[in-house]
Amino acid sequence: MKKIVIIGGGIAGLSAGIFAQKNGFESIILEKHHTLGGECTGWNRQGYHIDGCIHWLVGTKEGTPMHTLWTQVGALEGTEVFHPETFLSFEYEGNAVHLCRDLERLRSSWLRLAPQDKEAVEDFYQTVKALQAFNMPVDKPISMMTLFEKIKLISSMKEAGAIMDKYGKISLKTYARRFKHPVLRELLANFLPEGYSASSIFFALASFTKGDASIPYGGSKAMAMRMEDKYRSLGGTVIASSEVVKLNIKDKQVDCLVTKDGKKYQADYYIAACDAHRLYEHLLEGRYSDSAFKKRFSNSIDYPLASNIYIALAYEGELDNLPRSLRFQVTPFKIHHEEIHYLTINHYQYEKTFAPEGHSVITCAINQFYSDYEAWDQLSQDMQAYQQEKVRIGSEVLRAVEMRFPYMKGKVKVLDVATPKTYERYCNAYRGAFMGFLPTIKGKMMAHSGHIKGVKNLFLSGQWLQPPGGLPVAVITGRDTIMWLCKKEKKPFTYY
Ligand SMILES: Cc1cc2nc3c(=O)[nH]c(=O)nc-3n(C[C@H](O)[C@H](O)[C@H](O)COP(=O)(O)OP(=O)(O)OC[C@H]3O[C@@H](n4cnc5c(N)ncnc54)[C@H](O)[C@@H]3O)c2cc1C
Repeated sequence: MKKIVIIGGGIAGLSAGIFAQKNGFESIILEKHHTLGGECTGWNRQGYHIDGCIHWLVGTKEGTPMHTLWTQVGALEGTEVFHPETFLSFEYEGNAVHLCRDLERLRSSWLRLAPQDKEAVEDFYQTVKALQAFNMPVDKPISMMTLFEKIKLISSMKEAGAIMDKYGKISLKTYARRFKHPVLRELLANFLPEGYSASSIFFALASFTKGDASIPYGGSKAMAMRMEDKYRSLGGTVIASSEVVKLNIKDKQVDCLVTKDGKKYQADYYIAACDAHRLYEHLLEGRYSDSAFKKRFSNSIDYPLASNIYIALAYEGELDNLPRSLRFQVTPFKIHHEEIHYLTINHYQYEKTFAPEGHSVITCAINQFYSDYEAWDQLSQDMQAYQQEKVRIGSEVLRAVEMRFPYMKGKVKVLDVATPKTYERYCNAYRGAFMGFLPTIKGKMMAHSGHIKGVKNLFLSGQWLQPPGGLPVAVITGRDTIMWLCKKEKKPFTYY
C-alpha cells in the first residue's frame, strides 16, 4: 500500500486524508497545533464558545455539487443547517438596508427605499438572479477533464463568464456610484475593501439567495471535528502538535520530512495542505519557487491578502431581534493609521450551546491588510504593548456596541481579541491571511494545479490554489490531489 504524509490538518488536509483512505492509500496527518481544523475553528472562553470561521458555507444546500462533496467528507453528517434571513444588514445615517435571502424582497425593499435608483436596482437584481444557476465546478480539476468535459463546463459557465467580463474589472467603489441613494451607495462601496472587484458581491449573493451559503449548526470547530472523525473511522492516523520544519530532498523527490521534535517521516507521496508561503519559503527554503505565487506574494496592491482582528463579546441577554450580521456606523477610532468608521457584528443567538442560558456571543471582524500586519508584527516584539493594544481595541468595540445598543450598557464584556499574529502563530498563516488572493480589478485569477515544479512526489493543497479561496476551495483541492495520485498510480478514483 502506498503511503502519504499530509502536512496540516485544516479542511484541505482532512479532505486529502479522507479521500486518501477511501482510495486505498495509507495516510498520516501531521498537524502543528494540538487540534485539527486549521482556520476552520472555534474556541472556548469563560463559559462561551467563540466561533472563529463560518459566516457562510457554499454547499449547505442539498442537491448542489458542493453539498455532495461536503457529504462525502462527513462535514454535514447528522447536522441541521441554520439559514439566516439576511446576508448582511447595513445602517447609514438613520436608514437601514438588507441583503435579503429572498431576492424578490431585496428588490422591492430597495425600490421602495430608492425609487430614483430603479435602473441600477433592476440591473443588480437581474445580475444576481442570472448567477443563481451557477455552481462552482467541483467534480474534478480542469486539468484532468476530457475535451468533452471541458466544453460542457465552459458552456455551463457562460453566464458567469459574461458577468465576470462585465463586472470583474470594475471596483465595488466605482460600481456603487451607479446608485444615487446614499445608503445603497455606501453599502456597496463598503462591502469589500478598495480595489475589490464588483463581481464578488454578485457571486456571494447569488449563492445566498438561491438558498445556499448558510451555516451548519454547531459551528466551525464541530464541522472540522466531524471530518476528523470521518478520517479516523477510515483508518487515518493523526499526529497533532507536530510541526513539520524541513523537507529533505534527494534526486528531485522528498526523501523524508522532519518535525520540530526531530522525528522523521517517510512516504511515497507528501501533500503540503498548509500555507503556500510556508511551503515555498520555509519548508523548501525558497529553492523551488513558483512564478505564479512569486508574482502574487511580491505585489500586495493587486494581490492583497486580508487578515483580521477578531473580537468576541459576551452579552448578558438575548438578541432575537437583531439581524444575524449587522454593519453600522461608529464614532471613528484609530487602529494603526486607519480610522474605523464602521463595525460589522455577528451574533450566535441561534446556537443554544454557545453561551449560558439567556446570554449571547457577539463577534466582530475588522479586516487588516499589508501595513496593518507590519504594525502588529512590530508591536508583538513588545508583549506588553501588544496586549495593551488588544485590550484597547476590545474596549473600543465594546463601547461602540453599547453606544449603538444602549440597552446593552453594562451587560457586555470582552471575551477575546485575536490579531493577524494570532493566525500566524496558530496556523502558520502568511501575514495572518484567512483566505487566498481575493479577486481585485487588476489581479489575475490563479488556478494552480498544486504540482511543485522540480519535486516529483510533493503536492500543495488548500485555499491558496484557486480563487476565491475559503472552505470550498480547501475541500476541493484536498480531494483533487488524491485524484492526481490515483491517476499517477493508474487506479480508478472513488468518491465513496
Ligand atoms: C474569521 C474567519 C472567517 C472565515 N469565514 C469563512 C466563511 O464564512 N466561509 C468560508 O468558506 N471560509 C471562511 N474562512 C476561510 C477558511 O477558514 C479558510 O479558507 C480555510 O479554513 C482554509 O483551509 P486550509 O486547509 O486550506 O488551510 P488552513 O486552515 O490554514 O490549514 C492549514 C493547516 O496546516 C497546519 N500547518 C501549517 N504549517 C504546518 C507545518 N509546518 N506543520 C504541520 N502543520 C502545519 C496549520 O496549523 C493548519 O491547521 C474564514 C476564515 C477566518 C479566519
